[in-house]
Amino acid sequence: MVDIKLYGASWCPDCRRAKKFLADQRVPYEWHDIESDPDGVRVVQERNDGKNTIPTIIFPDGSHLAEPSNEELAEKIGLERVAMQHVYDLIIIGGGPAGLTTAIYAARENLETLIVDSKGLGGQAGITERLDNYPGFPDGIGGADLADRFVKQAERYGVETLQAVSVTSVTDDGHRELDVETATGDHYHARAVLLATGSSYRRTDAEGEEDLIGAGIHFCATCDGPFYRGSEELMVIGGGNSGLEEGLFLAQFTNRVTIVEQGDALRGSRLLQDKVLNHPKIEIQLRHGVKAFRSKDDGSGKLGAVLVEDLASGEVIERHPAGVFVFIGLDPNTGFLQGLVSLDERGFIVTDPMFMTNVPGIFAAGDVRQGSTKQLASAVGEGAAVAIQIRGYLDRMEASA
Ligand SMILES: Cc1cc2nc3c(=O)[nH]c(=O)nc-3n(C[C@H](O)[C@H](O)[C@H](O)COP(=O)(O)OP(=O)(O)OC[C@H]3O[C@@H](n4cnc5c(N)ncnc54)[C@H](O)[C@@H]3O)c2cc1C
Repeated sequence: MVDIKLYGASWCPDCRRAKKFLADQRVPYEWHDIESDPDGVRVVQERNDGKNTIPTIIFPDGSHLAEPSNEELAEKIGLERVAMQHVYDLIIIGGGPAGLTTAIYAARENLETLIVDSKGLGGQAGITERLDNYPGFPDGIGGADLADRFVKQAERYGVETLQAVSVTSVTDDGHRELDVETATGDHYHARAVLLATGSSYRRTDAEGEEDLIGAGIHFCATCDGPFYRGSEELMVIGGGNSGLEEGLFLAQFTNRVTIVEQGDALRGSRLLQDKVLNHPKIEIQLRHGVKAFRSKDDGSGKLGAVLVEDLASGEVIERHPAGVFVFIGLDPNTGFLQGLVSLDERGFIVTDPMFMTNVPGIFAAGDVRQGSTKQLASAVGEGAAVAIQIRGYLDRMEASA
C-alpha cells in the first residue's frame, strides 16, 4: 500500500530530487503531477496557504512537508543517520550485495560491524525489478525482496546500518586505525574498512527515463535480455564496445535490434563492428539520440514509446521497441577516494588477490573493484571472500599488537 503522496510537476528540480530520495530509500509513494491533476492543485494550495509550493509531500499521519530538504525527509521517514558508537572492528562503505554479505559473515564472527550507505540498503539489486539468474530462486525474485532478505539477515547478527549517509572521506592516520568521515560531519574509526560502493550505469538523462528503469529500460542484457524472448524489436543506446556486444547478444531474443549512436560512426572494435554491420537482425542509426521515453497509456507504468531525434535534421521519430538497453558507460563510485587507494585509469579500485588495496586494512569488493564481473552472484561471492580475508588481517594485527 502506498501511503505517501508527493505533489509536484515534471519540470520542478526539487520534485525530482524528492522523488529520487524516496526511490533511493525504497520508500513507496504516489506521484501526483499537479499540471495534469486539478485536484492536486487544490490539495497543494490548501496545505500552503493558497500557494502552489511544490513538492508538497503528505504523510500517512496526515502531516505534510513543503519543499523539504533530503535531511528533513530522512528525519520524517525515521532514518537513523548517526551511529551508536564511534569505534568498530569493521566499517563497510556501501550496503549493496557485496557489503551486506561481508557484514553477515563478519558479524557471525563477532566483529563489531557498521554499514554506511548513501542511499537505501540493497544497492543496485534493491532497485532491480526482477532477478532471474541469482541461484536458489528457480522462479526468480524481486530485487527489493532479495535486498530485504540480505538486510534482515545482517541485522539478525547485530550489524548496525546507516542509510542516506554518504561517506565523504577515509583517512589512514598511520596508527593502525582508519578514520571514516560522513556527510553528516561524523567520524567513525575502525581497524579495517571495506570499500563496496559499486558503480553507476550512465543514464541518457532523457525525459521519462527515471520512472521507467526496470520497466522497459535496462542496463544489463545478460540480466534482462531473456525477458524479451520473441519480441519484435529491442533498442540499444550506445555504439561502443558494450553496446555492440550486448546488441549481438540481444539479437537471439528478438526479431530486430536497433542500435542508436549519437556520433558519426560506431565506436566499438573493428571486429565487433563487422559482426554488427553484417548481422541480418541489427539496424544502426548513427547521429541519433534519445529525446524522451514515454509510458504506456494503460496505466501499467511500462515503457510505451521512445522519441528518437535525428541530430542532423532535428526530426523526432516515435519508436515502439519492447525494451531499451542503455550502454553509454559505467562509472565506479570512487570519487571520494582520490589519492587514498590505487585506482585504475577508469577509477575502479585495484586490489591484490586477497582483496586488499595498497593501503593496509582497506579492502574492496563487488562492482567497484577492478576486474569484477558486475553480477550479483559475483558481488555476493566477493563479499564472502573478503570477509574471510578481513578476519585473517584483524587476527594478524591482534597477534602482533
Ligand atoms: C537495473 C539493474 C539490473 C540488474 N540486474 C541484474 C541481474 O538480473 N542479475 C545480476 O546478476 N546482476 C544484475 N545487476 C547487477 C547487480 O545488481 C550488481 O552487480 C550488484 O548489485 C553489485 O553489488 P555491489 O554491492 O558491488 O554494488 P551496488 O549494488 O552498486 O551497491 C553499492 C552501494 O554503495 C553505496 N554507495 C556508493 N557510494 C557511497 C558512498 N560514498 N558512501 C556510502 N555509500 C555509498 C550505494 O548507494 C549502493 O547502495 C543489475 C544492475 C542494475 C543497475
